[in-house]
Amino acid sequence: MSNQTKTVRVEKPRGTRDFLPDEMEKRRAVERTMRKIVESYGYREICTPTFEHLELFTLKSGEQIVEEIYAFKDKSGRNLALRPELTAPVMRVFVNDCAVMPRPLRFYYFANCFRYERPQKGRYREFWQFGVELIGSDKPESDAEVITLAYTILRELGLDFELHVGHVGILRNILKGIDAETSSKIFRLIDKNKIDELESFMLNSGLENVYDKVIAVIQAEDIDSLPDFAESDVEKLRRVCELLDVCGVDYSVNTRVVRGLDYYTGVVFEVYAENLGAQKQICGGGSYRLAHVFGGENVPSTGFAIGFDRVMEICSPEVQKPLKVAVVHANQLEESIKLATKLRKELRNVVVVTDVMGRSLKKQLSYFSEFDFAIIVGKREVERGYYTVKDMKSGKQEELELEELIEKLFEKTSAWQKEQKTN
Ligand code: ATP
Ligand code: MG
Repeated sequence: MSNQTKTVRVEKPRGTRDFLPDEMEKRRAVERTMRKIVESYGYREICTPTFEHLELFTLKSGEQIVEEIYAFKDKSGRNLALRPELTAPVMRVFVNDCAVMPRPLRFYYFANCFRYERPQKGRYREFWQFGVELIGSDKPESDAEVITLAYTILRELGLDFELHVGHVGILRNILKGIDAETSSKIFRLIDKNKIDELESFMLNSGLENVYDKVIAVIQAEDIDSLPDFAESDVEKLRRVCELLDVCGVDYSVNTRVVRGLDYYTGVVFEVYAENLGAQKQICGGGSYRLAHVFGGENVPSTGFAIGFDRVMEICSPEVQKPLKVAVVHANQLEESIKLATKLRKELRNVVVVTDVMGRSLKKQLSYFSEFDFAIIVGKREVERGYYTVKDMKSGKQEELELEELIEKLFEKTSAWQKEQKTN
């Protein structure tokens, strides 16, 4: 056997990313904002497995979804899949464990999803979705609440975007009686905005009359110009829009929003951001019925999923920087560790770091030059019970006893840190 280890540089899989600490701080800041807002509306977090039975997704989206996801067999031959989204898993949990709970139920999630896509800017094989599901109501106020929530989050993040609201029922109604394959092709073409192709496809399929109606719907500029063959759906859309007005939400009515091949039944919406090119859809949602597909009651729900990674590309969140303190020493390693431990206990949200490289005092100070303060522990300090505190920005030094030191550092922490300490 050779005693030489073979070394290979291992790259990350295609379509995945690493996030270094600066990026993670930003992602966490955005995530915190999202959580805070949905929690203020009474949504509570739910967590489901990273992989599910493949069936969960084929039942929801049809067999062709297998091509688009990470499907695999485990060692016992079970057909499994990495989740491509979270609506189906959440509805599975609802059917299995929450069916008897008082409705409506308000759930939110923040989780990674996996799709076998061609990677490009804004399109990854592992990406994150932040979403909500409001389960149990088909009232316009539930649609309005969910749309308002998505809008409020994206506004709070300071993004430039357009919110488009439509109702898939209007088109579904017109396509009633047409076989599933043809109508899903029609929906797909509308979703991709391929109107020329739509025309030739429908005319070649002998659907001239239906085509005229479809065009009348997708070309309507606003609710009032929608043709009147889908009265109740149009009324529902109108009511949702009234409630959005009440909530101060900016939107436009867009009946071309049909959410692709999905299982939506009612009001649907999409959000498009400026400056994102082809992958500009940062959020999609609407009302749907899925619970009965998984063996439950036919319960109406409304939800959305925000594409977290696309949001991150256009978002520059303010990151809260904690106060950073280095405890450095001149041949007083143990004393410096003890002091650091004390400080971390007293000042819970302060970063306290010590030397682990066996460096000289001078080199320690240089390594910690970006910190706010350095506390110098030397023989003299240990004997006399005080510490030298160096302000790393100004270079000013002072000598303080432990109590004074803690008091001073606490004073220097920013308001948000103090807030967390008292909680
Ligand atoms: P697209 O048409 O861009 O593929 P989609 O209709 O497949 O989007 P949804 O399934 O509704 O998207 O997912 C919700 C959100 O998740 C999208 O609006 C988008 O922002 C984001 N998203 C979807 N697929 C990806 C991906 N592969 N990488 C990054 N974000 C994604
Ligand atoms: Mg897609």
